[in-house]
Amino acid sequence: AAKAAGRGVHRFYSADMLAGARDRQQLEGDLRAALPAGEFNLCYQPVVRTVDAVVIGYEALIRWRHPVRGLVSPADFIPVAEECGLIGAIGEWVLRTACNEAARWPRDVRVAVNVSPVQFANPQLPGIVASALARSGLAPDRLELEITEGVFLKGSDSSDRMFAALKGLGVRLALDDFGTGYSSLGYLRTAPFDKIKIDQSFVRGAAQPGNRNAAIIRAIVMLADTLGMETTAEGVEIQDEIELVRSLGCSHIQGYVYGRPAPAAEVAAALGIDGRAVPSGFRVSRPSR
Ligand code: C2E
Ligand code: MG
Ligand code: MG
Ligand code: MG
Repeated sequence: AAKAAGRGVHRFYSADMLAGARDRQQLEGDLRAALPAGEFNLCYQPVVRTVDAVVIGYEALIRWRHPVRGLVSPADFIPVAEECGLIGAIGEWVLRTACNEAARWPRDVRVAVNVSPVQFANPQLPGIVASALARSGLAPDRLELEITEGVFLKGSDSSDRMFAALKGLGVRLALDDFGTGYSSLGYLRTAPFDKIKIDQSFVRGAAQPGNRNAAIIRAIVMLADTLGMETTAEGVEIQDEIELVRSLGCSHIQGYVYGRPAPAAEVAAALGIDGRAVPSGFRVSRPSR
């Protein structure tokens, strides 16, 4: 349950607490105040190309610094934001902020942004994305939207239209947490994903002898290859897992082994940006470790 709670992120709101209506009401109220109060920020985790260990982009991950409770995990507050109608405003802030920050990075470094199924169901989403791109000046192909299998729970007619509209903007689409949702392979037939992100639950333990996760990763990679989609192995924590997912053909790797989510200023420093100048053709080399 605490799967996504990175170090330093506190699962303050336990499931028990959220079950209590009073605590839940307080969380909603605090969440409502968080955006105007500037309590959110984005951290960025590197995504590495398997063949040469070059950082090709970063995934933006929201952080909420509660004035009293400290850092609250998105795994705790995103579902609440989805239920109480706040995800639209928060998601728009995430898109704008990620595009603005990534626009300062070298041109060959992309940014990935998580988009909730609730946002995906809003016909205004393409307009919101277009506006974030236009205001920031970020090239559309540098933005990758990560969606989960949850978007397919609703009718496929509207999701087909949404996919077409987003692809029409020139952005990339990734299928996040693949294999954990109500998976039906049927949607891979038509949905225009550029990338499948293999959930970290399949990476966990995969490098141990006899573990069946490796067979599942291999099958996902074969499927993705055949469909012309890239694959990112999520949650790679140790060298053995790097070697395993490389041998299984994953095109990209993301996980603590290459870097934990870090604030924008740290990423800018790692990219050699002093605040203005962006060296042309700049490449981030393999983190030394
Ligand atoms: P996700 O999109 O699958 O993001 C990956 C999560 O795995 C992140 O947790 C990341 O910190 C964590 N992670 C990365 N590498 C490792 C590793 O090697 N080991 C382990 N154990 N964990 C690793 P985080 O930041 O707590 O986010 C959790 C989830 O919250 C995300 O899962 C995503 O579903 C959601 N989320 C985060 N930011 C946003 C956002 O801006 N908008 C929306 N809608 N959802 C978000
Ligand atoms: Mg994601
Ligand atoms: Mg994921
Ligand atoms: Mg996830």
